[in-house]
Amino acid sequence: MTVTSEPRLKITYATLRNDNEQLHAQYDAGLAIARGELGATHGIFINGEWRPAAATFEKRSPIDGSLVGLFAFGTKEDVRDAVAAARVAAPCWARTPWLERVAVMRRFADMISERQMELAALMAIEVGKSRLEALGDVEETADLIRYYCDQFEANDGFDRPMGNLGDPAVHTRSVLKPHGVWGIISPFNFPMALSGGPAGGALVAGNAVVYKPSSDAPLCGVKLTELADLAGLPRGVFNMVTGPGAAVGQELQENQGIDGLLFTGSYEIGFNHVFKEFSHAYPKPVIVEMGGKNPAIVSVRADLEEAAEGVMRSAFGYGGQKCSACSRVYVQAPVYDSFLDALVAKTRGITIGDPTDKKNWLGPLVNAKARAKYEAAVAEARRDGRILTGGEIVAGQGTDLYVAPTIVVDLPADHHLWRDELFVPFVAVARVDTLDDAIARANDTIYGLTAGFFSDDHEEVENFKDKIEAGVIYINRRAGATTGAWPGIQPFGGWKGSGTTGKASGGLYYVQQFMREQSQTLVD
Ligand code: NAD
Repeated sequence: MTVTSEPRLKITYATLRNDNEQLHAQYDAGLAIARGELGATHGIFINGEWRPAAATFEKRSPIDGSLVGLFAFGTKEDVRDAVAAARVAAPCWARTPWLERVAVMRRFADMISERQMELAALMAIEVGKSRLEALGDVEETADLIRYYCDQFEANDGFDRPMGNLGDPAVHTRSVLKPHGVWGIISPFNFPMALSGGPAGGALVAGNAVVYKPSSDAPLCGVKLTELADLAGLPRGVFNMVTGPGAAVGQELQENQGIDGLLFTGSYEIGFNHVFKEFSHAYPKPVIVEMGGKNPAIVSVRADLEEAAEGVMRSAFGYGGQKCSACSRVYVQAPVYDSFLDALVAKTRGITIGDPTDKKNWLGPLVNAKARAKYEAAVAEARRDGRILTGGEIVAGQGTDLYVAPTIVVDLPADHHLWRDELFVPFVAVARVDTLDDAIARANDTIYGLTAGFFSDDHEEVENFKDKIEAGVIYINRRAGATTGAWPGIQPFGGWKGSGTTGKASGGLYYVQQFMREQSQTLVD
């Protein structure tokens, strides 16, 4: 991988403007490097060594169907080997002074940032993200790791003196210690941030890791692994096995050598399999981050232009393929028509096409399964409601995965499209009489990930903050009604069916989850 020498530009999900020519020149250079890396065959990484793939699967770009690479079709046996290597490496890594672990992890983060352009371009090709979205994902990865390092420093390595009831012969401490080996299972949609972030937390805390990337984003997994190795993580501390969830993911879930498991992905797999099935002999820590059905509420007191922009960005950014995507909007009756006019106008202005091209804001869906979900939702919306804009496949693109951002109205309140996560660019809008109705409908779902509110009225805002059931809320946010959290700024985690722990990534209480407390008493 190559490092650009020019000064780095920091892109977050809240970066609104896409007109920095220096940024685009750097991205184009990264894109050229990325293109040269496509089409190779990749193995799995166990005990500090790349093992050639015995069997492979093909990953093709949703942009134009070109070959991204051939990736190892990992097996349960591969995972067993990786877990065995991790178990050997874990005690030594746990005993490594935390300041040394922090130094390695900071190096890892810096290496990710230094390669942001190339990594973002590879990610765009692999999963169809736009320039700014992919750059944000790469930089978030590095900032998540840095934030967990900051937390270690701010808490003296989580090794703290406790009281002694006045007896100077008694010395007590609270020490947080790693569990041993963590499994990390990642989704396709933030293929670096939701791999490097949680793995970073587990690693800085002194655990070894066995990591399984999504099969829709294996190249991001391979690149992250190369950098973990280059950064100097000792042999066996970071292991990576690509392959199907039913084999690789399942083994991570069943293997007795895994002490803790972090899964990010759908409710269907996260809750029904990972959460329910992980612990066997005794309870083990399992962190499961799942989907959302994220609402935005627009009051009569809202700035409608701001609300429409915030909803458009959150509903359609990366084609609605974010756990935090806005998929429902409840608007107070007097401003319903004006809000819709503004939202439809902004949505029709979205440029769709190859997302590595700077003129395009929106690229393709990740795969044919997502397109089928979109088509099914559109057919139902036509039958049971009214489509204001969108509802079709965009012709003339490199694949048939480009779909038009879709706004639906007049759906019955009990329709499943109000409840089920679709993960496509599809937003339903309803008229409500009161804000309490809106909040009740917003809360009427198993999910509780993010929510947005638009109003200039202080009391309305306080009422929303008091009643909304969501782990991440935004008020009057043009940059994204429900999306765009950043480490150390907006901790990100779900309530209810969106997450199991109530502790948010990039937040104050996250990295501690990869450790267990030991209370130590020493009497002279
Ligand atoms: P997914 O559930 O299909 O897959 C997630 C991962 O689980 C993949 O690596 C997959 O291979 C693996 N897997 C599949 N079967 C498994 C099994 N039986 N055991 C163990 N692992 C298995 O999710 P996806 O389509 O990759 O990602 C989209 C989903 O992720 C959406 O629901 C989205 O809301 C959610 N998500 C949540 C967050 C969050 O922070 N809460 C963030 C991003 C995405």
